[in-house]
Amino acid sequence: MDPTAASLFVSHGAPSLALETGPIAAALGRLGQVLEGASALVVASAHWTARPIRIGAGQRPETIYDFGGFDPALREIVYAAPGAPAVAQRARDLLTAAGFEAELDPSRGFDHGVWTPLVHLAPEASLPIVPLSIDEDAGPAFHLELGRALAPLRREGVAILGSGSLTHNLAAFFKGDGGPKIDPRAEAFAAWLQEQLAAGDIAALVDYRRRAPEGEWAHPTEEHLLPFYVALGAALGESEALGRPAERAYGGIDAGVLAMDAYRLA
Ligand code: ZN
Repeated sequence: MDPTAASLFVSHGAPSLALETGPIAAALGRLGQVLEGASALVVASAHWTARPIRIGAGQRPETIYDFGGFDPALREIVYAAPGAPAVAQRARDLLTAAGFEAELDPSRGFDHGVWTPLVHLAPEASLPIVPLSIDEDAGPAFHLELGRALAPLRREGVAILGSGSLTHNLAAFFKGDGGPKIDPRAEAFAAWLQEQLAAGDIAALVDYRRRAPEGEWAHPTEEHLLPFYVALGAALGESEALGRPAERAYGGIDAGVLAMDAYRLA
């Protein structure tokens, strides 16, 4: 068995993901099996943006309910996984060595970008979790390099997860644009990204805003796609090609407009 830990990207969609029992819950549960044997998991979340980059270094991070207007049952979920301060420190050292500025944050809890997919990926909440911020204004290339800098963690048994959304047009979501009908723009963007991954065209992926169909519609702001690049960079490490074909673990579209793709990238 390959002792190198996995690198994953998941779309968390709406916070109600945590209460899902359907196909996406099953798909994430299956995907989570690749985390068995990992010693910790670093999670880059769309819901934590900071400059410089911050790394959660708490021993017992609390569950954060950073949303409003969803099922009150969500506020009763406590994701009680431990933190991993030593892994946070190691991540910071790797980032610093690669020229990034990064700060430890011992008081950071698990925002819903972290915990709502973990409810399915790691339901026992025994795998130690290290939250990682993104920088919403720094773009894909920055986050790809950030992920590359963290890749050595994988050889040390620490898995990487990017948590965002493959498409994330909230105006369309709240307008109910798609209704039960799937918006072809969400499909086109998700299909394009899958094709570039299959072709291994990293440059095209980084340049999605110019090259992808509906890139700007899919991401009016970029924070929900940036965690994908962290996971991709961690999967690539120093290489220009993925060591194994990217595996799409789920590919449904929520509310007609939110592409919920989940990938194993390494
Ligand atoms: Zn989100």
